[in-house]
Amino acid sequence: MPTIFTKIINKEIPADILYEDEEVIAFKDINPQAPNHILIIPKKEISTINDIQENDDRLIGKLVRKAADIAKELNIDESGYRLVFNCNKDGGQEVYHIHLHLMGGRKFNWPAG
Ligand code: 5GP
Repeated sequence: MPTIFTKIINKEIPADILYEDEEVIAFKDINPQAPNHILIIPKKEISTINDIQENDDRLIGKLVRKAADIAKELNIDESGYRLVFNCNKDGGQEVYHIHLHLMGGRKFNWPAG
């Protein structure tokens, strides 16, 4: 089902885009939780991590690799960063189009709150 992220993919609403190709798009989170907070998403509509199929494996791997590329461009690859997929209610998922959070520029606690 389309979400607000489909509107970003289709350029129906604006976003601060850092990377885009035919399969993925990465843009700044509108409500950043860290000095750097980027969302890396597939253009394919996949609602939750539970809905990933075997033929999505390469695409999901690409999200992670692109996150690492962007971390390097933002100069946070050495200081470090956090990658997060939230899934469903207890995971804190609000937008039901899978997205990888890339957060950096500050120290994060562990375990996550
Ligand atoms: P979730 O809680 O689903 O893992 O994360 C959804 C994220 O999407 C949140 O961090 C939220 O700030 C971000 N977000 C929601 N709506 C928009 C939007 O319209 N534009 C952008 N750039 N980010 C959004």
